[in-house]
Amino acid sequence: MADYLISGGTGYVPEDGLSAQQLFSIGDGLTYNDFLILPGFIDFTSDEVDLTSALTKKITLKAPLISSPMDTVTESAMAIAMALMGGIGFIHHNCTPEFQANEVRKVKVCWHYHVIINPVIKKKKNLISTHVTQRFEQGFITDPVVMSPHQTVGDVLEAKVRHGFSGIPVTETGKMGGKLVGIVTSRDIDFLSEKDHTKPLAEAMTKREELVVAPAGVTLKEANDILQRSKKGKLPIVNDNDELVAIIARTDLKKNRDYPLASKDSRKQLLCGAAIGTRDDDKYRLDLLVQAGVDVVVLDSSQGNSVFQINMINYIKQKFPELQVVGGNVVTAAQAKNLIDAGVDALRVGMGCGSICITQEVMACGRPQGTSVYKVAEYARRFGVPVIADGGIQTVGHVVKALSLGASTIMMGSLLAATTEAPGEYFFSDGVRLKKYRGMGSLDAMEKSTSSQKRYFSEGDAVKVAQGVSGSVQDKGSIHKFVPYLIAGIQHGCQDIGAKSLSVLRSMMYSGELKFEKRTMSAQVEGGVHGLHSYEKRLY
Ligand code: GDP
Ligand code: GDP
Ligand code: 5GP
Repeated sequence: MADYLISGGTGYVPEDGLSAQQLFSIGDGLTYNDFLILPGFIDFTSDEVDLTSALTKKITLKAPLISSPMDTVTESAMAIAMALMGGIGFIHHNCTPEFQANEVRKVKVCWHYHVIINPVIKKKKNLISTHVTQRFEQGFITDPVVMSPHQTVGDVLEAKVRHGFSGIPVTETGKMGGKLVGIVTSRDIDFLSEKDHTKPLAEAMTKREELVVAPAGVTLKEANDILQRSKKGKLPIVNDNDELVAIIARTDLKKNRDYPLASKDSRKQLLCGAAIGTRDDDKYRLDLLVQAGVDVVVLDSSQGNSVFQINMINYIKQKFPELQVVGGNVVTAAQAKNLIDAGVDALRVGMGCGSICITQEVMACGRPQGTSVYKVAEYARRFGVPVIADGGIQTVGHVVKALSLGASTIMMGSLLAATTEAPGEYFFSDGVRLKKYRGMGSLDAMEKSTSSQKRYFSEGDAVKVAQGVSGSVQDKGSIHKFVPYLIAGIQHGCQDIGAKSLSVLRSMMYSGELKFEKRTMSAQVEGGVHGLHSYEKRLY
């Protein structure tokens, strides 16, 4: 990486800038705005930059972006959009355990439905939640809805209403494992009149002789190729006795093409996180979330270094050893140590740096976020525990800075608030289109349920002490445009630095090759737009 320094004819280049270790040994707490990164050498294009990064010990994301568990940021629509684009969302817990688990369930089943865009999901809300028992392996649907030739066109129409799809294989027995005799799809029935609804499928379906099928044991790649050549919507997979063992849907191939970064589990379902508290009744919430298929939980506390959190980590690790657990929030290595010892799979870092947050003002505790991220990440990496930089991200440059201080992923609240996918309705104020955005420690949020009070240890208090404010944010449009902008922005930042991947970025930082510089007040003024009479700032 440093070859270019010596490859020219001019020889020695003097040391310039500070290593991260030097920058943070000065003693002042630094925010993202207090420093800059010095540019490096570019020998690759920005779209080659690989943003793959660890969310937890066992979960890796293709985009290091997380939506915060806040009731004005993450419910199922946001979590689905984030996962489709390579990140992940954590569903908030300022709601009943049942509501939260149902939101998780919608994310987990989403990939296998065409209902991936927000407004459509709203329409099909009830429909999706009925359908969790499906098992999917590597893109093969192994227990699809199957019918017999004696069932009717009306049964298919009913299945379409209930499940949202109408491509149904027909077997002799009407069950999986029966001999395949045909397939019926919307094109076979959509022009039939009401009186044809009693028609048996034997008459409406396309018959076995005409079907393109694939043999059991076929790889997903081979099956995809056959499906592409056949130009049909479904590919039935049959064994040597011509019995149905699975199907593949063309729409799933399309989704793979449209969302190549999507965060999925081994069953090809979208990844989903959720927040819980650390009290006894959170154990019931946890059970429901696990039943709904949650992949990772975050223990949502503003000060995570507590006996409550350590006990909860122990409990979860014993009861659900496979479930990934994020501990936090922490801002010092000493806080991190206790949670790492208790077995967390990742740490959430930040105290008082969030846009809606008044913790530092009210509680006198906290730390500037640049320092928090560096100190915790530098300690946690020795134990292979990834760090989430949570809060205070105002620009894509802040994301790049957080990652270059050792964070593996970053968590956003305000940046994602007021997008189409954020919960809540738009409203107008002075002609500006807005959505509400509030701190989970604001009186507003704490009045809604006790979950929020628990984050701030104040559920039993006669006098509530707010640690956040409630406000509004201007309409940002859809996440489907905003996240690609963030991803491209991070790639450009890494390119300027000369890091072709986030792991290269981290090793450059820890080796001291990555150079930083402190930013004076006047440097910050110089770095912003200045000296113009007026200007328009459009980011993407
Ligand atoms: P259809 O043409 O109406 O069947 O619908 P599509 O093929 O466009 O979409 C069906 C979606 O539902 C795909 O993402 C499938 O993976 C998913 N799916 C989940 N379970 C089933 C099932 O039992 N049968 C079918 N046909 N699709 C299913
Ligand atoms: P749709 O677009 O959702 O209706 O689904 P398809 O593209 O799967 O089906 C279109 C038509 O082709 C329907 O009449 C199906 O019954 C029929 N069809 C489905 N699979 C096959 C197949 O493998 N071979 C043939 N010849 N027809 C099929
Ligand atoms: P933002 O991205 O808006 O700067 O910060 C979001 C983060 O602020 C959240 O992920 C969470 O950690 C933190 N947060 C959310 N609500 C509150 C609150 O009411 N008070 C404090 N202190 N922090 C909050």
